Amino acid sequence: MTPRLSLLCIALLSSGLTACSTPGQLNTTAGPKPAANELTVEQRARLIAQNSMIIDTHIDVPYRLHKDWEDVSRATERGEFDYPRARTGGLNVPFMSIYIPASYERSGGGYQLANQLIDNMEALAGRAPDKFAMAHSTEDAVAQFGSGKISLALGMENGTPIAGDLANLRHFYQRGIRYITLAHSESNHISDSSYDLRRRWQGLSPFGKELVVAMNNIGMMIDISHVSDDAFYQTVALSKVPVIASHSSLRSFVPGFERNMDDDMIKALAKNGGVIQINFGSSFVTAIANQYGAMRKAAAEKAGVANDAAFANVFRQQQPYPFATLETVLDHIDHVVQLVGIDYVGIGSDYDGVGDSLPEGLKDVASYPNLIAGLLERGYSEADIDKILSGNLLRVWREVETYARAQ
Ligand SMILES: [Zn+2]
Repeated sequence: MTPRLSLLCIALLSSGLTACSTPGQLNTTAGPKPAANELTVEQRARLIAQNSMIIDTHIDVPYRLHKDWEDVSRATERGEFDYPRARTGGLNVPFMSIYIPASYERSGGGYQLANQLIDNMEALAGRAPDKFAMAHSTEDAVAQFGSGKISLALGMENGTPIAGDLANLRHFYQRGIRYITLAHSESNHISDSSYDLRRRWQGLSPFGKELVVAMNNIGMMIDISHVSDDAFYQTVALSKVPVIASHSSLRSFVPGFERNMDDDMIKALAKNGGVIQINFGSSFVTAIANQYGAMRKAAAEKAGVANDAAFANVFRQQQPYPFATLETVLDHIDHVVQLVGIDYVGIGSDYDGVGDSLPEGLKDVASYPNLIAGLLERGYSEADIDKILSGNLLRVWREVETYARAQ
């Protein structure tokens, strides 16, 4: 073993890692050789990923497994999340998305599906108790940190299963749901959606306003990703505690895309004490990727064929998808920091939720060290990186818990 590796091992061992018995895992041959007394940016990034808590507030594993089950407690070929890759990436607390498609608002069955998806996450933790544990509170997340277990937290994407009844809010709180995205791609009985041209409520519905208060009181975070601008402003005006955008990016990079947040909204969010968790999907971070779907739709219309999966394959061969880069995602983080400071930004990757559209360098849950290396290269301190990886979200979650306890 070279003196350089010995020093690296000392650093790793002092941080609680035992990887030094197999130094090959450290990939010390990658990148420039470090001087005897310092680590490369990549090595520092990997250490930070392992030593800091990483919370990602939006991962769509439950619905993916519901449609196409596989055992993510083992290494898998498909998808963007499994236990080994999560450990490699240093992920500690994925908020698993209990995603209810917008059509359930009309068809019914949202309550049923939400309970099934929660059951599936509990089954995952139950089958592999050495690898996963549910996390229903910040105390759970902190207690399980460093145990080698991934803490599964739950967020409900689309409030449809609440079905206009606050008894259902209490039910899903008891089942462990800790945030609700008020609406998804269509307006529902709670809120208007940014994707839906019909502005049924001009923001929140009367029940939606009641629900915001009830969520504050019970200790459920309010997620304003997906809702219309009016609904966002009404929510931050009503909420007694900070809110989150669990997986949104910035409109200034994708003009006209209401699903992202504009600068005034970011300022209002920071004033509320909330946090925007940046979505990694290419269509969320660059205008050109955002327009790709419309280009494909227009091409299908022109050719007089259905805009289906088969056509998508053909189109993609002729017109390669314009993947965003890791640098663009970093630009989004920089922009929030420049606008309102370091305390209001985090990560909500949307892994398993955005198809084959993830930027180079951020393809799956093993990729967080790449993001951290990019932040280091841009001059972020380790304390600031810690805020982005989990500190800001933990602060909001704790405030929500504390407020509810006092009610
Ligand atoms: Zn979403």
